[in-house]
Amino acid sequence: MSPLLAVERLMAGYGQARVLHGIDLHVDEREVVVVLGANGAGKTTLMRAISGLLPSTGSIRFAGAEIGSHRPEKVVAAGVSLVPQGRGTFSALTVLENLRIGAAVRRDAAGITADLEHWFDVFPVLNERKAQVAGTLSGGEQQMLAVARALMSRPKLLLCDEISLGLAPKVVADLFAVLGRINAESGTALLLVEQNADLALALANRVYLLEVGRVASTGGADEFRDNDAVRRAYLGY
Ligand code: ATP
Repeated sequence: MSPLLAVERLMAGYGQARVLHGIDLHVDEREVVVVLGANGAGKTTLMRAISGLLPSTGSIRFAGAEIGSHRPEKVVAAGVSLVPQGRGTFSALTVLENLRIGAAVRRDAAGITADLEHWFDVFPVLNERKAQVAGTLSGGEQQMLAVARALMSRPKLLLCDEISLGLAPKVVADLFAVLGRINAESGTALLLVEQNADLALALANRVYLLEVGRVASTGGADEFRDNDAVRRAYLGY
């Protein structure tokens, strides 16, 4: 079976500065894959390139089709949705308006209404605050909103760029529990960039370690969890 997402020889950067120097990576259907790496390794750049937010060369195939030159909204329509680093909710719009924007690529009004109810069930705090503007939510609430908004497009693959950043441990644990449920219940594949390696490794099937824009190492999440040398060298603990 061919992978859900297949990235080959991916190069991307900013102006003359190349950041990704030929990344090969894949995510299978229903898989959870985590990308680890030091600050500046290129993890965010990778997520932005896959999402169509940054021009790239090489190949990005999703569900059998080349999406490497797609604009961001076409990438979403194809089934790939990003929770960007720093949340990226529309702060002047309400919770409900943010969620509706997440569904902008869909035309099934009844399905959208059903999904809104579903995500309000999963994140009751968003239901309580649906008329509140996103900018006045707490950090954890904004991150829940960002995740729910990305899911409103019904992605087959959810990309999460450091969703644990700056959040209290309890909020992070709750968010990861929701991600685990989404993966288990609806089969949504996850590609996670995380500094919080322990939680990500607990959820992940496989790992890619990035070093200055290249894949330095890849393997099963359990190998990375159990390998003290790898933990010390790459994860810093
Ligand atoms: P972190 O964990 O710190 O978020 P990262 O692995 O996500 O790091 P990137 O954000 O992808 O790393 O950055 C990779 C490199 O690209 C860095 O050297 C960074 O300075 C550079 N870079 C990132 N964004 C830009 C930009 N908009 N313009 C120019 N250079 C950039």
